Amino acid sequence: MKRIEGIAASEGYAIGKLHIYWEKAAMTVPEKAADPEWEINRFLQAREHACTEVGTVYHRAVARVGEHHSSIFKIHLALLQDQDFFIEIRDYIRGRGVTAETAVQEVGQRFFRMFEELDDDYMKARGADVKDIVSRLLHFLSEDKEEKAPLISEGILAAEELMPSQTIQIDTDRVQALLTRTGSRTSHSAILARSMRIPAITGLGRGFEQLEDGSEVIVDGFKGVVIQDPDEETLEFYRHMSEEYQKQQKALESYKGMKAVTMDGAVVQLCANISHPNDMDEVLDAGADGVGLFRTEFLFMYWGRLPTEKEQFDAYRRVVEQMQGKRVVIRTLDIGADKQIPYLKMEREENPVMGRRSIRFCLENQGLFTTQLRALLRAAQYGKLAILIPMVASVEEVIMVRELLKEAASQLEKEGVPFGRDYEFGVMIETPSAAVISDLLAPHVDFFSIGTNDLTQFTMAADRENPHVAALSDAQHPAVRRLIKTAVQNGLQNGLRVSVCGEAAADPVMTRYLLSIGVRELSVAPASLMEIRHIIQSIRIQ
Ligand code: PEP
Ligand code: MG
Repeated sequence: MKRIEGIAASEGYAIGKLHIYWEKAAMTVPEKAADPEWEINRFLQAREHACTEVGTVYHRAVARVGEHHSSIFKIHLALLQDQDFFIEIRDYIRGRGVTAETAVQEVGQRFFRMFEELDDDYMKARGADVKDIVSRLLHFLSEDKEEKAPLISEGILAAEELMPSQTIQIDTDRVQALLTRTGSRTSHSAILARSMRIPAITGLGRGFEQLEDGSEVIVDGFKGVVIQDPDEETLEFYRHMSEEYQKQQKALESYKGMKAVTMDGAVVQLCANISHPNDMDEVLDAGADGVGLFRTEFLFMYWGRLPTEKEQFDAYRRVVEQMQGKRVVIRTLDIGADKQIPYLKMEREENPVMGRRSIRFCLENQGLFTTQLRALLRAAQYGKLAILIPMVASVEEVIMVRELLKEAASQLEKEGVPFGRDYEFGVMIETPSAAVISDLLAPHVDFFSIGTNDLTQFTMAADRENPHVAALSDAQHPAVRRLIKTAVQNGLQNGLRVSVCGEAAADPVMTRYLLSIGVRELSVAPASLMEIRHIIQSIRIQ
């Protein structure tokens, strides 16, 4: 019997057979190719995609900053199409029998060093361009790989890393629990696991290496412990615990449809976080006071291609109508970092968590963003809609979004397409900057929604995906609490609605704290609604 510890990411127990999914591990070592000619073909396809993309970027750049400042993209195109580069790649694949990824990385390194060693400063700088095209090529190659690698669909699934786009596709009727080497409690995959009610342990680190494919394991999602090859006594104990947990969950059902009111009469709006209209069954069943956060990026992942305005409108309308007049907060596309959408082909960045993600990406891709805004405005006719902007760091961004919203409304008006004018507009407070300038943001918006996951990550400088800094990723840290308090005070003083939609809202200790500083709106995963309602009912604020 072996006990392996990680981070408790999603509560629950599971007992079953372990299946290890090796996709990531295989990619970190030089990969041998089954068919070198096939790999050369894959390289050529990736190169074609990369050239098309660089061509588009070049034309966009010319329109924005002129021919002169855009010449860098011409250089990228020339490097991509360079015959020597292709010949080296081709020969490397044939000579060593490796995959296209390995060849691109190795040959890319060689070219990079060659430029770096030159005396001429201009030529030296071309090394960075090589890096750029290498990462672009790897991006297209990995996308092709993703399509080919199917996820295991039964038992207890263990993987080095699970992308949110993979987690969301897991069949919860067949997969009993998730285990990963990387990640923390606020990883997006962990958040999804909780909302899908599947036990999960992340951040197993080196313990991951002790897992044996095919062995019998117990997953304790409360303690973050995996027990491999358990003895009969331990098995018996966990069977009992699992039954008790089921009973407890049943008991919490008595809180269905109740109001979230503290013992001394403070009424709390207890809302739900969703990632797909299909989550609404559970939300309605629990009797949530509204949808406090609809993470639309998961919907974009689910579709597997860019959704049309009509498809988005139908999805948003469905949620708004189902809530029958209760408020629905829909957040615009919050992609980037771990939340990748392959078909959007976002450029690889050195530090994507702080890169061109979320609202930054949307403001640079106004066509795509305006389509979403139009769909939202159209859905606003059918109920009480609030539009929420993620990752805001400056007042200027808010002003730009408001301009685009105005523009979207005037387009719809001109086209004679009906839309709603009565909606709320708000921002996520999830960057330290937004919290610090929340007094300046307040006059431009109707509400704040505090995202404690990112706010904690950025305040503590602790990557929410990195298990080694998980202890620092603590929303209860005084630094994070100060920022939350600043935003709450600035919001309330300016007459705004202030809610908390990060995972801290569903942490009983934080729930108490948040209510004590004046928060009266919380939004949690549907799976936590009943427990938090129960907690609120047992709190006395005064
Ligand atoms: C947050 O950052 O707290 C949040 C709610 O957004 P997400 O978890 O989707 O990044
Ligand atoms: Mg966030």
